[in-house]
Amino acid sequence: MQYQARAFGAVLKENTRVDKVTPDANGVIVKTSNGPVHARKVILAADAWINKLLSPLHAEIPLRVMQEQITYFKPTNVERFEPSKFPVWIWGAEKWFYGFPSYGEHSIKAGRDVSENLMTPEQRTFTHSTELEDELSRFMDTIIPTKGQTYGQSLVNMLSLLIDNCH
Ligand SMILES: Cc1cc2nc3c(=O)[nH]c(=O)nc-3n(C[C@H](O)[C@H](O)[C@H](O)COP(=O)(O)OP(=O)(O)OC[C@H]3O[C@@H](n4cnc5c(N)ncnc54)[C@H](O)[C@@H]3O)c2cc1C
Repeated sequence: MQYQARAFGAVLKENTRVDKVTPDANGVIVKTSNGPVHARKVILAADAWINKLLSPLHAEIPLRVMQEQITYFKPTNVERFEPSKFPVWIWGAEKWFYGFPSYGEHSIKAGRDVSENLMTPEQRTFTHSTELEDELSRFMDTIIPTKGQTYGQSLVNMLSLLIDNCH
């Protein structure tokens, strides 16, 4: 996506924090950690962090924010997990789990959807939960017993859900 944006002429300012967005008569002043930028229009795409930028504008999106993680497993016979033989899946019950086939890798990816690991973006860590990882492994054993062992470390990221839209 970044490559495509650049190909269409976008200038990407990396490692640049947006501190404030202030409308003025000609558009918007975006105060950043590398100086101000003036724009006719802005699109805020800050996901879990969006309300930090919106609240000074007296606006808010009702979000439920949590730290989620995905885990890779390395099956002994990874060919059986190629997309032609193994689906993208989701399992919905009291808890929801989902996963993917192997897309040219030696592993398959799975996770728990909406793990309720609630925290604010400020509280986020980059450390995965071994509890959630074990829970996922135990669940996978019941439906995909040939999943193999975990492969590398689980990867964490923030998930934000519109409060009206949660399951
Ligand atoms: C564990 C997990 C696994 C997922 N797996 C999949 C998957 O397999 N397939 C799929 O399609 N989707 C997946 N998703 C969903 C997908 O990651 C999100 O839908 C997608 O990343 C949302 O993109 P975004 O650009 O809106 O937000 P993000 O990717 O969260 O990007 C927001 C960016 O804004 C930046 N930002 C915030 N505030 C500021 C600021 N003030 N100044 C500058 N920058 C700021 C943040 O640093 C961040 O880089 C997964 C999500 C999670 C949590």
